[in-house]
Amino acid sequence: MMSKYHSPEEIDLLWTFFNVQFPSERDCLEELYRQAEERIVQGCRYCKSLDVDKNYGDRTIKCRRCNKQTWLTAGTFFHRIRSARPWLAAIWFMERGVILTSRQLHKLSGIAQSSALHIFQKISRVLQQAMQNEATLTSSLFSKSFCRRSRITPGGKHPREEEEENELQANNNIDNSAIQTINIPQEYKFAGAEQEIYAQLSAEPITFDLLSIKTGIKVSALSAALTMLELAGEVTVLSGNRYIRSAAKLKTTKENLQTGHDLSAEIKERVSTVITFIQNTFGGISRKYLQNYLAAFWYQQNNSSKGIRSLLRLCFQFGPLSYKTLLEYVTPALVKVP
Ligand SMILES: [Zn+2]
Repeated sequence: MMSKYHSPEEIDLLWTFFNVQFPSERDCLEELYRQAEERIVQGCRYCKSLDVDKNYGDRTIKCRRCNKQTWLTAGTFFHRIRSARPWLAAIWFMERGVILTSRQLHKLSGIAQSSALHIFQKISRVLQQAMQNEATLTSSLFSKSFCRRSRITPGGKHPREEEEENELQANNNIDNSAIQTINIPQEYKFAGAEQEIYAQLSAEPITFDLLSIKTGIKVSALSAALTMLELAGEVTVLSGNRYIRSAAKLKTTKENLQTGHDLSAEIKERVSTVITFIQNTFGGISRKYLQNYLAAFWYQQNNSSKGIRSLLRLCFQFGPLSYKTLLEYVTPALVKVP
């Protein structure tokens, strides 16, 4: 597994291509609509009439029957975005194997760095969902990347020395942090149907549908209970809406780690590559969003070779994602690792 790095010159060149292809905001919006397939509003949302006025690059369509305006991206992943340009740029670059940091996107597109970070986090959630059949490891393996570079720079030393030091320590840190910082969730008191649901769970993934059949619990109640269990750290959700017991899995991982079986050389190398990538690209991240960065790395590694569909289309398929939901996200104890 290799990390791909892109020089400032390569990024500038790609940015030039992007601007030739999409000179204006209207061009960017049209590109969104073109790839949205049936997922943008086609007719008037008020009277459902398909007799509407739409001009190139307009954000709204105007109904000829009731005269009302409908936002084209309403209810999609791009619901209420201020400008399509930075979103399209971030996605366009990712589709070409380049993950723009919030600082780079801020510099290129002129939006605030916080807005650029928001864009990255939101798109990463789509990538997270797209990750499949990946290894699941405890997040503490990545604790080395959970701080900003400036804060870990040794006092009075050149940052380069810090990097060399990091490289030297890489393998040791992986071992130690894995064993020392694994957290087994505290006892959680089951409420309502949660006990019954939990009884059906094990380290083997089970789908939502099967869980519903086995427990006979109504879909809405089951969904609510699983969310509670997930928040309590008892349950981990995997891709494809599958569930496992968190604690059971963590305990097994811990036992394996202590006897040295689980952390094979291959996994060590994988973790080390990802940490190096995160540090070199982003300089240091918060634990809360670790899974987002892993997903971005996964996409960079896989999008060209495995024929994953256009990221822009994946965003439309994902549907709306509120700011609140985005902020509340916390990387689970077990992460999917590319
Ligand atoms: Zn209408």
